[in-house]
Amino acid sequence: MAKIIGSIGTRGKLAAALILLVLLPAIFYSAYEISSLTTSEELIADIYARQVEVVLFSLNQYAWDVANSWANTINSALKETTDAHPGYQPLLSSFLKENAGIQFLFVSDSLVSRPQIIHRDSVIPHLIDATTIAASLHSNVEVVNRLFRLQSSGYRKISSITIADSAGEQSLALLFIASQSDGSRPIVGIVLDAERFIREVLAQKMNEAAGDNFLVSVNKKGSDRPVYGTIDPSEVRQTKELWLFPDYLVGIRLRGQTIAEVVRERFYRNMILIGLLDLILIAGAWFVYRTVQREVELAQLKSDFVSNVSHELKTPLALIRMFGETLQMKRIVSEEKKQEYYDTIVQESERLTRLVNNILSFSRMEAGKKEYHFNDVDLNTIVGKVVKSYESHLVHLGFRISTMLHNGPCIIPVDAEAASEALLNIIENAAKYSDKEKSISIATGREGNMVYVDVEDHGVGIARNDQRRIFEKFYRVSSGLVHNTKGSGLGLTLVQHIMDAHKGTVTVKSEPGKGSTFRLSFPTKNNA
Ligand code: ADP
Repeated sequence: MAKIIGSIGTRGKLAAALILLVLLPAIFYSAYEISSLTTSEELIADIYARQVEVVLFSLNQYAWDVANSWANTINSALKETTDAHPGYQPLLSSFLKENAGIQFLFVSDSLVSRPQIIHRDSVIPHLIDATTIAASLHSNVEVVNRLFRLQSSGYRKISSITIADSAGEQSLALLFIASQSDGSRPIVGIVLDAERFIREVLAQKMNEAAGDNFLVSVNKKGSDRPVYGTIDPSEVRQTKELWLFPDYLVGIRLRGQTIAEVVRERFYRNMILIGLLDLILIAGAWFVYRTVQREVELAQLKSDFVSNVSHELKTPLALIRMFGETLQMKRIVSEEKKQEYYDTIVQESERLTRLVNNILSFSRMEAGKKEYHFNDVDLNTIVGKVVKSYESHLVHLGFRISTMLHNGPCIIPVDAEAASEALLNIIENAAKYSDKEKSISIATGREGNMVYVDVEDHGVGIARNDQRRIFEKFYRVSSGLVHNTKGSGLGLTLVQHIMDAHKGTVTVKSEPGKGSTFRLSFPTKNNA
């Protein structure tokens, strides 16, 4: 009882140590990783969002750069002529031809008395004339004055205003103040065709900025029809107004997957990895636990083994000594009694020899030094010899022995000495673990390519759970009669080893309380 409690205590301590050393850190680590995963996924989402911002910003910036370069070109065209009226028409109309995003230009003197429209080829802007432009400039007088002020201080700024045609339709005009060589400062308006500007000027830049990772499209506010690009509006993840055309929204999403999908996928992948890591740790801890548990059990079994063997050695020695001394003192006169004492001394010394042999065989086996010498022998011969040598001892103990040998040849390649040792161990166990019904049947037979010997007893039997374990070294069933019968726990381990060496098997069929049948099966040589 104390031993069991001791081993439970050791196992408990081991389990506690493993939980403290492996499982708790693993749980803490996983919890920490999962929480930091969420933070880092948020961070990644944030970084993606910023990247999108940068793409959108660079688009807007580009639109302004284009506007600026146009203003420069127009400014130098205007500088080349002092004649404010027909002079710059040809220069600017070729500029217009090259830049499809512009509907038309207008140039007005600073008093906005006679704005002049410069249009593409002969296409006259629909419903727009000098009067509508003048009206728009007048209604944006503050913007115009500010541009003049800035220009006086040497800074050319571009501002956008909307101009309305006579039907109320609005277009965007970029205004700036030019400077001519005669010192006059005309107001220049670049009236944009928003959709053409987006398709023909911004498109290329959008493709560049989007690169391989993003898809970009532009929609007019409130409309699902894209002016450029083909992202389904429901798939657009981020939108931004175009600075130049506040009526238009640039939408962007990741090519293939959305940011949320990418982040979620990464999150799940990382979670799976952490899960796997935890599983490996748990499996490792379980493995360590099992190994140490086995070692503890083995240590326990070994200490039992020492006490069992000491007892096993002591009993025959005591008997031999007792009978030997009695005979020596010549106290026995009856020849019959003397013979009985001689027999006991011989039997007990044989028992001692078998025990010592078992231990020596086992230690050779453990050291990997047990050698086998195979010869073709009939199993019936081996069984016959073993039974003959042991029968009288068993009969003396009150056993009935029945032997039934197969009537055909049972030739097998076998180490006869080792096979006898195995069989003797099985028969000895049958006797040791028999209770009231003392009968043992030994039979040989043939099944396919195997020949076998069965040893059947009607003893205590073996519980199903123990049937697997009895072949482990030092293992002994610790209940009932078995508990009182001494043994080393090595016999069946040896039998198993011997049968393995013969490429055979040892199997057991047993029912507690009814008895057991052990079978040793040997393969025949080339199906002989
Ligand atoms: P032992 O020296 O204890 O007999 P073995 O390795 O020969 O060692 O057997 C291991 C255990 O198997 C025994 O302690 C016993 O509990 C059980 N056992 C073996 N043979 C029999 C049998 N014929 N009937 C019941 N139990 C058996």
